Amino acid sequence: MSVNLSTPVQYLKGVGPKLGQLLGKRGVENIGDLLEFYPRTYEDRRAMRQIADLQPEQRVQVRVQVIKVRSQNLGRTRRKMYEVLVGDSSGRIACKFFRVPYRGYFERFSEQSLVKVTGKVVDYRGKLEFHHPTIEPVLPDEDESDEDLIIPIYTEIETISSSKMQKLVENAFKQLDEGVKEQRAKEFETGYKFNSIPGFVDAVPKWIREKYSLMDRRQALKQVHLPDIKQAEALLELRSPAHQRLIFDEFFGLELFLASRKTEVQKKAAPKMSAKFQLVDELKRSLPFELTGAQKKSFEEIAQDLQKGHPMHRLVQGDVGSGKTLVSLLAACFACENGYQSSIMVPTEILAEQHYINAKKYLEPLGVRVGYIVGGMKAKEKQEVYEKIAAGEIDLCVGTHALIQKDVAFKKLALVIIDEQHRFGVQQRAELMDKGLSPHFLVMTATPIPRTLAMTVYGDLDVSVINELPKGRQPIVTRKTFSSKKDKVLQFLNDQIAKGRQAYIVYPLVEESEKMDLKNAVDEHKKLVEQYPNLRVGLLHGKMKPAEKEQVMKLFRDHQLDVLVSTTVIEVGVDVPNANLMIIEHAERFGLSQLHQLRGRVGRGEHKSYCVLVLGYAVGEDGQKRAEIMEQHSDGFKIAEKDLEIRGPGEFLGTRQSGLAGFKLANLVRDLDLLQLARKAAFDVVEKDPDLKDPEHIHLKQALERHRMRVIG
Ligand code: ADP
Ligand code: MG
Repeated sequence: MSVNLSTPVQYLKGVGPKLGQLLGKRGVENIGDLLEFYPRTYEDRRAMRQIADLQPEQRVQVRVQVIKVRSQNLGRTRRKMYEVLVGDSSGRIACKFFRVPYRGYFERFSEQSLVKVTGKVVDYRGKLEFHHPTIEPVLPDEDESDEDLIIPIYTEIETISSSKMQKLVENAFKQLDEGVKEQRAKEFETGYKFNSIPGFVDAVPKWIREKYSLMDRRQALKQVHLPDIKQAEALLELRSPAHQRLIFDEFFGLELFLASRKTEVQKKAAPKMSAKFQLVDELKRSLPFELTGAQKKSFEEIAQDLQKGHPMHRLVQGDVGSGKTLVSLLAACFACENGYQSSIMVPTEILAEQHYINAKKYLEPLGVRVGYIVGGMKAKEKQEVYEKIAAGEIDLCVGTHALIQKDVAFKKLALVIIDEQHRFGVQQRAELMDKGLSPHFLVMTATPIPRTLAMTVYGDLDVSVINELPKGRQPIVTRKTFSSKKDKVLQFLNDQIAKGRQAYIVYPLVEESEKMDLKNAVDEHKKLVEQYPNLRVGLLHGKMKPAEKEQVMKLFRDHQLDVLVSTTVIEVGVDVPNANLMIIEHAERFGLSQLHQLRGRVGRGEHKSYCVLVLGYAVGEDGQKRAEIMEQHSDGFKIAEKDLEIRGPGEFLGTRQSGLAGFKLANLVRDLDLLQLARKAAFDVVEKDPDLKDPEHIHLKQALERHRMRVIG
């Protein structure tokens, strides 16, 4: 039977209903999905490999002789390590086992018997060895195969082993090829030439493939699944030309979506403002400091955008403490003088309040009317604000998500500023626009994001970078220590307080043990109060009522408190320049960007600032490593890159809304070059044919629709 990419897998040879169901659970519904179930890695079985030639991280097979089998106790535990020492004429290597695969396993290997060892070479303290390899006897009649082989290794799906999967994929190609043969025969018979090969559509148009020297997709799929030993090295790195083509495709889908969104947005109309800078200049004059060059430049870019008559979609990236808030206030002033309303949306109520206080302080003297709305307010209070918003009696409204609820109707909303929300992606902006609003958007990131991510999640935005900190900022001295040294840390804390400074002590909040951690913060607070009666210590955590939280924050801001013991509720945005010491407890439980955010709470004034990372007893290697990165780096962009390397994009951003969930082969850290290529290609296409009307782009149009569904839902 001839099949194509959308034929359900059940119709493949060797797949019955049961296998079909298993595959379906992993999203493999049809043959196309199966072909995109890519090998996880490859096993390099080139013949005649010598032990002396082995390299760390290679997956290999060697034919060797057993030299010795022995076992050894592991430390003082009752557990044992087994070792099969093998060798050939070039050297020796140990095969280590930390458990017995099955009873009698090691008895199978007598000294000097010939075996095949298959597995990954690992470098353990400078020595190469195998851990848990497969060891099989070489049978007497087995020919000394000189055949070079490289075998695809698939992730197992329950009972479907890697070799079973390999068979299925081979069958799929066979059946697909039959279809091709049938078509050729038909062409020969009728003299008619078909345009495409049945079963394979290459959505990427030929002119793009040629321009960027991409190989044919069908060929790429084949090479990845039916690998050729000549490409072994590139295949093993998942960077063969075939891999590159398939990775390109994954990026291209996303980039095309972003590129087309960007052109769509540019076609929309938005309030067109004019160059009125009186309020802006007044604000600048009222500041106790000079704007940094980067702040000026960012604002200029924004003001330009606002005068174009099309929605601005701009991202302001700036490290913690670089003064993004002020840039947003300048933008709000500009809109206000033009007769429009603005809103600033932030993730937490504490932050909303702080912005509100700031905005009032700076803008009210200029006659800009500032409002405030958060979820925790009484219904009546909210109602009042809603009414003022609708009547146009508020020029700038600061708030949380409550700002975009359905009953909020602005009179003349023109500018939506989204602060400290690196998760506020394409999807949410699309939601707002779906409400018939096409305001100008200004997104300010909480964390600097690596270039690759800026090109993906925020790929439809223009970017301004604040790459300059206000004058006089000193680097924050960061040190890691262990909880056993806590007394010293508290001594240091007291010294700083004595000098008139303030400090934060932050505890992690981990979901499964929320109560425990809360207890930690509460206990610490109590302990400090008892131990140091002259310290004024406040407590802040997520379980408190909004009004209580505000009260504590206000006390701390007004220097009525010396120390603020808190869970991570203060993670983003909080700005108290007199605070110069941040103590992070159980620092091993935080991710890098979170640590960087927390550290960014200090170093905001003229005082020399410190960050102490207190590691718990249970700190692992990763936790230590993160602490060391924090000691060494202060640049948020560097730290974000390291974070992305360690955690991968999914965790870095929360995958679903980032639209990155669909990547099967692509790796944002490794494949930056391909991402850039795909982005260029996508913009090429959109520029040439914005509506994808050209018949050559029909498959692209379909792919784009699918992508849109996935991201926007
Ligand atoms: P972030 O970029 O982290 O949001 P903020 O906007 O909270 O930073 O600014 C951090 C601190 O720096 C605030 O106290 C703010 O008043 C101050 N600040 C902003 N711009 C300047 C400047 N140009 N010179 C000096 N201080 C500034
Ligand atoms: Mg901020």
